Amino acid sequence: MTYHAGDKPGAGAYRCLNCGYIVHVESDDQELPVCPNCGHEEFEKVQED
Ligand SMILES: [Zn+2]
Repeated sequence: MTYHAGDKPGAGAYRCLNCGYIVHVESDDQELPVCPNCGHEEFEKVQED
């Protein structure tokens, strides 16, 4: 599943599909930002255990 900047996908870690940068969303009401490394707007969720 792909997530976009502006989505509120829930707390967790998201990897930029362009450059691999990991963005951490700290709470369920925080929006995904654009990638701070490359400006891309699509991410995938990083599975954490
Ligand atoms: Zn990026």
